[in-house]
Amino acid sequence: MNSDEYQRAHQQLLERVVAETRETGGATGLYELSERVLQVMATVPRHRFVLPEQHGWAYVDMPLPIGLGQTISQPFIVALMTELLAPGPEDAVLEIGTGSGYQTAVLARLARQVYSLERIPELAEAAAQRLQELGLANVAVRAGDGCLGWEEQAPFDGIIVTAAASDVPEALVRQLKPGGRLVIPVGLPHQTQDLQVLEKDEQGQVQVRSVLPVVFVPLIGSF
Ligand code: SAM
Repeated sequence: MNSDEYQRAHQQLLERVVAETRETGGATGLYELSERVLQVMATVPRHRFVLPEQHGWAYVDMPLPIGLGQTISQPFIVALMTELLAPGPEDAVLEIGTGSGYQTAVLARLARQVYSLERIPELAEAAAQRLQELGLANVAVRAGDGCLGWEEQAPFDGIIVTAAASDVPEALVRQLKPGGRLVIPVGLPHQTQDLQVLEKDEQGQVQVRSVLPVVFVPLIGSF
């Protein structure tokens, strides 16, 4: 694909993401993406995050294999989870499940600082290099078990988990600031999971809201 073709395909992808947001609005309560999130989705080149043999599929609204049994998330889900997290320009965000680094790049263009943990060292290393090549200096990627969070950098304004957890890891709730939000797919692997938003109020009480059925690879770690 040449750069004009990428641009056209990227534009069509954004139109699909906008349409899907509208179509799922009855369930999610969110019929429109904010201009901020849409603009960032328009600037992150997804083809840079997929395997060379997948370049032709980079701007199709679907997850794709990235090797080692893992996937890059579907753009609509990336947009939806970003909108639900709603990272502000002064926010520090923790991401669990760096994968290709695509969601990380979207977050990095919205938040002050992104900390991202990936269980598989080869993926963490490749993602860190890609993010650096794209000039995203406000990202720290580390290989490790995201179920334990990132204690040294806590607390976080927002936490996003991009793998399916059988239960919400307790460390992540603890590392969330009062007023913060945790977006996480909850459920068993190889089944439909429940995308949830947990909000911690100023008193530390947590409210949980179910948003949409989703399918993610499993979160593997110590709960
Ligand atoms: N958002 C990513 C992207 O756009 O490329 C896709 C993430 S992929 C669906 C889920 C990732 O979570 C995988 O790379 C997997 O290795 C990672 N993962 C699973 N369990 C983990 C854990 N306990 N800690 C950190 N990463 C984990």
